[in-house]
Amino acid sequence: MSKKISTKSLSLQTILAGERHQLPVEKPHSLPIYSTSSFEVGSLDDSISLFNGDKDGFVYSRYSNPTVQAVESKIARIECGNEDGRAIMTSSGMAAISILIFTLVHKGDVCVTHNGLYGGSTEILEMLAEKIGFQLIFLDLNDPDELAEVQKYRSIRLIYFESPSNPLLHCIDIKQLTEFTRHQGIITICDNTICTPLLQTPLSLGVDYTVYSNTKYLSGHGNTISGCIVSKNKDFMDKNIRKSMRLIGGNCSPWEAWLTYTGMKTLSLRLQRQCANATYLAAFLNDHPQVSLVNHNSLPSHIHHQLAQSQMSDFAPLMSFELKGGEEAVKTFMANIQIVRHAPTLGDLDTLVLHPYTSSHRNLPEEVKRKSGITPGLIRMSTGIEDPKDLRDDISRALQLQ
Ligand code: PLP
Repeated sequence: MSKKISTKSLSLQTILAGERHQLPVEKPHSLPIYSTSSFEVGSLDDSISLFNGDKDGFVYSRYSNPTVQAVESKIARIECGNEDGRAIMTSSGMAAISILIFTLVHKGDVCVTHNGLYGGSTEILEMLAEKIGFQLIFLDLNDPDELAEVQKYRSIRLIYFESPSNPLLHCIDIKQLTEFTRHQGIITICDNTICTPLLQTPLSLGVDYTVYSNTKYLSGHGNTISGCIVSKNKDFMDKNIRKSMRLIGGNCSPWEAWLTYTGMKTLSLRLQRQCANATYLAAFLNDHPQVSLVNHNSLPSHIHHQLAQSQMSDFAPLMSFELKGGEEAVKTFMANIQIVRHAPTLGDLDTLVLHPYTSSHRNLPEEVKRKSGITPGLIRMSTGIEDPKDLRDDISRALQLQ
């Protein structure tokens, strides 16, 4: 590949001089960022073999990239254990969901989901149902009779669910669901963003695909947006899902992949502190006179306290709570918090709050919001790694000023 260039003009030199990079032969200790759109493909024969897939190698970063591939292997390894799974990184969590549905569902299919998904997920499912022409049915996925009833008349192609859900932390009994779907040949997708593979591994419970917004806990520092799809179905991932990702152009950039990689190194440490903080603050809020309801899996009063315990290794660091004073009380609370921040994401090092009714879930019709428990007085809180007593004092003060 190393051709000698007889550099003539200075302007040509600015382009080509020193171009045969001296990449070190030593293995870098930390993952390098391969910020290149393409890779030199050598002779025409080499290029043909690369493009045909007869020879392994990188061609174009929308297809695959060494930095992105390293992070994909890390995620697949964590989620699938020693079994050989695949992860495909995408430009965002929404891209992961859209690419997966686009690839798996056809016109005329019947797909099932539930109320209470992240607002964007409900919106994209409804949009794709309309554009592709599939039927989208909302059911209680913890009630096998509801599923069996639909399956009796129409064959279900796919079930999409979120467990625990954002922001009510409702859980789906994953084992019970996959026992039903396995016998019926129904594809299952679980959005496992809130748990990450460290707290819950849906694939080990029989789910076909997991999707993640890496933007949240996986990267963990609030400085990047990306997503991924994970599955043990290697063939379909390599041939079909990656093909859709390439053609749609929903690939993850090497910079974002690198930030996710670096963030993931501390995922376990971060989660230990975040989960402990969530359980501590949920108990505090549960006893607070200004709070009418706390949705956190650690509380025995939560509808899915036991289910969460049975399928998650810890209670996730996300909760929501309802203020007795409704939206006015939320306004005052947001104006008075000092340590806790008001920002529309979750999973960061800082404790963050958001008002789902006017932000993440604002585009849902009133009726759907009501069914999903998204009320005007509801605040979502994602706990960070701060000292729990500082957080309690900040929240306590903001609530006293109601
Ligand atoms: N899934 C869940 C549970 C989310 O909370 C979000 C965003 O908040 C998404 C998916 C979408 O992720 P992204 O913002 O990375 O596209």
